[in-house]
Amino acid sequence: MTSVWSAQLADRRPCDPLDGDTTADVVIVGGGLTGLWTAYYLLDADAALDVLVVEAGEVGDGVSSRGIGACSAELPVSPERVALAYGRAAALELRAAMRDAVVEVGGALALEQVECGFTFGGELRVARGAAQVERIGELVATAPAWGDEWQALDPAGVAERALVPGVTAGAWTPDCAVVDPARLVRGLLDVLLARGARVAERTTALRASPRAVVTDRGTVRAAHVLTAVEATAPGLETGRTLAAVPTHGLATPPLDAATWAEIGLEPGVVLRDAARLPVSARRTTDGRLVLTGTGSAARLDRALASLFPAVTGPVTAPVAVRWSGHLGVARDGLPSVTLDAATGRGDASGFASSGVAASNLAGRTLADLVTGVESPLTDLPWVGHRSPDWPVWGGAAMSVALRAAERADDAEAAGRTSRAALAVLDRFPLD
Ligand SMILES: Cc1cc2nc3c(=O)[nH]c(=O)nc-3n(C[C@H](O)[C@H](O)[C@H](O)COP(=O)(O)OP(=O)(O)OC[C@H]3O[C@@H](n4cnc5c(N)ncnc54)[C@H](O)[C@@H]3O)c2cc1C
Repeated sequence: MTSVWSAQLADRRPCDPLDGDTTADVVIVGGGLTGLWTAYYLLDADAALDVLVVEAGEVGDGVSSRGIGACSAELPVSPERVALAYGRAAALELRAAMRDAVVEVGGALALEQVECGFTFGGELRVARGAAQVERIGELVATAPAWGDEWQALDPAGVAERALVPGVTAGAWTPDCAVVDPARLVRGLLDVLLARGARVAERTTALRASPRAVVTDRGTVRAAHVLTAVEATAPGLETGRTLAAVPTHGLATPPLDAATWAEIGLEPGVVLRDAARLPVSARRTTDGRLVLTGTGSAARLDRALASLFPAVTGPVTAPVAVRWSGHLGVARDGLPSVTLDAATGRGDASGFASSGVAASNLAGRTLADLVTGVESPLTDLPWVGHRSPDWPVWGGAAMSVALRAAERADDAEAAGRTSRAALAVLDRFPLD
């Protein structure tokens, strides 16, 4: 299932697989945004480094080309939770670093002339129903304490940005941009190849240990071995730190101007509802409406009909492209960026639905750790963090929790409360 972004990319010549045993200064397993940003900042720090990226499929085959392309300052964990574990100052640093990461992505793309539609359009959060209004109220009330900017909107303020039926409240933050994620991946790959990085595609890592990676095409000896494989890593033992959470996307064909006038969502703006399992939406540069959301695929269709009835009316086109992918979700929600200085073994993962900006921050952080630069990044609370493992039954519990969250959202949308669903969520919380 190819995403709408990948479907529109021109073919390219794949990079050759690894041709037998080799050496490198740094080998990175995984050619998604995390691996690519890490390679980029390593070469930025030291152009002479021999950096090798090993990718099981083709670069971008993982989740990196499957998002909605929101380059957002959000993380899958609340600052309150980070503060409980690491203190308020550390939580504040992480929030500031994520806001900076959104801008840094734009800066790096401008510097490298990567054309992937980076537009700093902000995020619009919309609430329908009392429970969603309460969530948005909490977001707006707590944001200033963490340096975040969320401005409360009344229905008229929301309507200036998007025309969603039944909206009773909203909020707005500037700290979000959009990109075409597949073109971002492709652009980064081109930059890396031009800078002399080696990229081996169709090369699956079978074991990654300090100083060596064994692949199905040969073994790489390297001073630093970094993994950037997120939740689905065929062939590689990654333990139980991440749950793979199914998430879906759909895109309409390009819509006509009259339909867009009824939707009102400007290009560059990300719209997200305030459900437990939020649905995100945006407009592409060629006039498609794209939606993504966790839960069942059918739920996205319902969201499309309910949030944007103009699209499902009799004169409008049906959904043109559907795809899905798995988010990598840490049990405590906090992604981790680790490097064992003694062995040179490192990893960055757990970005859930925040990987566009967070992978950039993680890549810069890993580059500082590898090159031995002490920077504010290397003190961030996710450095060296290890989330508790999911229990062996974690996958089953996650499925139960997702279904319950979906039922609870549906009930809220209908103005009811599903006590049965809430009881399940109490037992198997999603956050
Ligand atoms: C539907 C959907 C919507 C999303 N929307 C957004 C959004 O709007 N904003 C946002 O910030 N994030 C979003 N995300 C999440 C975001 O896409 C991810 O957080 C991010 O792309 C993770 O990048 P990564 O490089 O860590 O992982 P990946 O892109 O998955 O890269 C890992 C790579 O490792 C490779 N690999 C795995 N195992 C091996 C092996 N054994 N050997 C060699 N290579 C291997 C894989 O093939 C893959 O290419 C969304 C995700 C989905 C599924």
